[in-house]
Amino acid sequence: MKPVIALVGRPNVGKSTLFNRLTKSRDAIVADYAGLTRDRHYGDGRLGTREFIVIDTGGFEPDSSTGIVKEMAKQTKQAVAEADIVVFVTDVRSGLSAQDADIARFLRQANKRVILTVNKAEGMVDSPLLGEFWELGLGNPHPISSAHGQGIRSLLEAALEDF
Ligand code: GDP
Ligand code: MG
Repeated sequence: MKPVIALVGRPNVGKSTLFNRLTKSRDAIVADYAGLTRDRHYGDGRLGTREFIVIDTGGFEPDSSTGIVKEMAKQTKQAVAEADIVVFVTDVRSGLSAQDADIARFLRQANKRVILTVNKAEGMVDSPLLGEFWELGLGNPHPISSAHGQGIRSLLEAALEDF
């Protein structure tokens, strides 16, 4: 069985960009605005000879009466339930947010391997801006740039360590 990696995080942090990077596909829709990916989306990835499945999330209806936060939580929970490993994506450019803290609280209770990533960190491997992400209580924040392909290998090695 291939391990399943779910990408979770609030809208616009770069989950779909990371999905495309990991699956080398252009299948997931990358938007310059939040929430265009309406459903979970699956793809195949590989690290050397090791294969894995990636789930992109982010589907919610910005105008729906269910509300963004509620629908995001539902998407996150469904993807996490299906996954062996959760890659939690945050964004160093917008910084830590209350939504990040909410997702982190859920993930700490989910009993899954969680890898905390701080995206949009191109050229920022040693930036002090990464420090605040320790507050999420999910261990070492991995700086990555999904758009530029930085930090991706080390992220995958951490994610797949036990698989
Ligand atoms: P999602 O809503 O979490 O799926 O986010 P998207 O993948 O749609 O990306 C949201 C925006 O962030 C888009 O404008 C992307 O081009 C941009 N983005 C994604 N990854 C990076 C990155 O590594 N660096 C920078 N600077 N921008 C990024
Ligand atoms: Mg998306």
